[in-house]
Amino acid sequence: MIAPEHGREPCMTLEFDAAVFRTPNEPLTIERVTIPSTPPPGEVLVRLQASGVCHSDLHVLLGEWEVPSPMILGHEGAGIVESVGEGVTTLKEGNHVVLCWTPSCRRCRYCIGGRPVLCDMVSQHSANHLSFDGRSRITSAGEGDVYSFAGLGTFGQYTLVPESGAIAIRDDAPFPQSALVGCAVTTGVGAAVNTAKVRPSDTVLVLGCGGVGLNAIQGARLAGARKIIAADISDEKLEQARLFGATDLINNGREDFADRVRQLTDGLGVEIAIEAIGLPRTIESAYEALARGGTAVVAGQVADGMRISIDPFVMSDQELSLIGSNYGSSKPASDFPLLIDHYMNDRIDLDSLVTNVIDLKDVNEAFDEMKRGVGIRSVITY
Ligand SMILES: [Zn+2]
Ligand SMILES: [Zn+2]
Repeated sequence: MIAPEHGREPCMTLEFDAAVFRTPNEPLTIERVTIPSTPPPGEVLVRLQASGVCHSDLHVLLGEWEVPSPMILGHEGAGIVESVGEGVTTLKEGNHVVLCWTPSCRRCRYCIGGRPVLCDMVSQHSANHLSFDGRSRITSAGEGDVYSFAGLGTFGQYTLVPESGAIAIRDDAPFPQSALVGCAVTTGVGAAVNTAKVRPSDTVLVLGCGGVGLNAIQGARLAGARKIIAADISDEKLEQARLFGATDLINNGREDFADRVRQLTDGLGVEIAIEAIGLPRTIESAYEALARGGTAVVAGQVADGMRISIDPFVMSDQELSLIGSNYGSSKPASDFPLLIDHYMNDRIDLDSLVTNVIDLKDVNEAFDEMKRGVGIRSVITY
């Protein structure tokens, strides 16, 4: 029997500022929005403490990915559980959490099969920037629903997410660094460790030394790779790559990329090539840099509608693999706390990733810096 609607407590709401996307190539606007203060069953209300500004947000801003609007951007967040809805068992008020943009149902064939980032619910809802019931949780004064990027919308102080969208972490880890585990760190480290399964005998090439690329480099180092070659067109980014574990550098704006790869690998090519930019040309370069039996991993996020061209004869003849990596093929519920432990034990470096700490109102300047290639990560703190 369904419980009668009357007698239910009136829905209380919280008001807060959020950075809202309305039109491509226009600055985000800081707007007053509201969210229910009591989580629906199975959801948790999180008070954000920090949010990274990621390249995927820029894809939306530039109109390279088509999304509904108005939408609160931001998908790389850490915060504190404010309250939990009925039926939530793994989280409680006061838990420190990193948000996950692939909340999983824990029941579909992907979840049961150990690949939760491919969960049915992700393609049905969070990829559409909505909650598990296909609705939004946030409204703008007089205007109705506001979407939340990837179901998170971390460019605002509050968000409501499914229980599996908030992963509890140890409470002695700082929030700005922890926030980056919610996207760039897991995507990059995971591409090397989980997707490519780097072994100590491997030479690993990483194309692109932005947030994901630097983390792929330190993922390869964590896995014990024999040699880590970083390629980028910026000398500044290549120097950063060295700090994160690159043993050899290629400036492919200035040097002949294929020649340098051959030179650094005794003419053989690399066992693993990780593309962390999201451009067809660099995906092809990664693939062409492989040694026989090698694997190229596409970790970069490509604009809608792009295509690549490869030689399929070489693929079979030399047993090459070309594979995709979404969210570092991670299991967020166990990988987020693991990566935080690696950071707290000085096995990976998250401090050097945070190059700029800003207020929400300065988010548009952070995008300008990203476009100019300045710094690694701007992190909003609340
Ligand atoms: Zn991201
Ligand atoms: Zn699932």
